[in-house]
Amino acid sequence: MSAATLLAHDPRALALGRALTDVAPAIQLRLNRNRGTLISLRGDRHAPRLSLHVALLDHPAALAELPEWVRRNGRGRWPGIQAAITSVFAGRPDDRAQGVPIPDEIRALPRLAGPLDLAALFARVHRTWFAHLPPPPVTWARSGPLRQRHIRFGCYRRRPAPLVSLHPKLDQPWIAWCFVEHVLFHELCHHAQACAPVRGESPHGARFRAWERRYPLHDQARRWERAYLQHVLGGTLPAE
Ligand SMILES: [Zn+2]
Repeated sequence: MSAATLLAHDPRALALGRALTDVAPAIQLRLNRNRGTLISLRGDRHAPRLSLHVALLDHPAALAELPEWVRRNGRGRWPGIQAAITSVFAGRPDDRAQGVPIPDEIRALPRLAGPLDLAALFARVHRTWFAHLPPPPVTWARSGPLRQRHIRFGCYRRRPAPLVSLHPKLDQPWIAWCFVEHVLFHELCHHAQACAPVRGESPHGARFRAWERRYPLHDQARRWERAYLQHVLGGTLPAE
């Protein structure tokens, strides 16, 4: 049955549609089967659009929370929705990391342990490895949907003025220091590129990769990312 047919005939989808209309009369509900965002709320207050993976219909606690979740624009704590997302995500066959033990040396990498002082860390990375360049400002990026399949951890903007931004999902106590440093280091390599442009060079070309490998924990940071990516994306806590 297609997602559109399900939306028109499935009693759970119909009940959800009615409950949503009570809190947001103009809301559009869409069901999807794509492997992207499991749940997303777009549009604005007057014309919100909620897209939901069909598998979430099997989770009554999540469905019960959704109208209030929409009304509060995703702010707050939603244990039913979180549990459903974790469960649907865990059931996906292409999540290779699922069930693969994390090596001790990766698990033991020092964690943030508290709130991240982005400006201080960025200043340290700049001072240590990029002191020859004028420092660009750094900022937190806007957070995306609750649950994402892909994510840009960092971003470098060259124009109108240089700016490095970091995804707020990296501000979690269990995230490894070296991973955040590695992301900021990567963006500063883009800054180095912008400060000494080479005509026709691709953004992640040979010069860039050679610079990037100068970060001493480059390999550990990449391995940490592979081990923990599903938790960063899913907003779930690693079990340890
Ligand atoms: Zn890049």
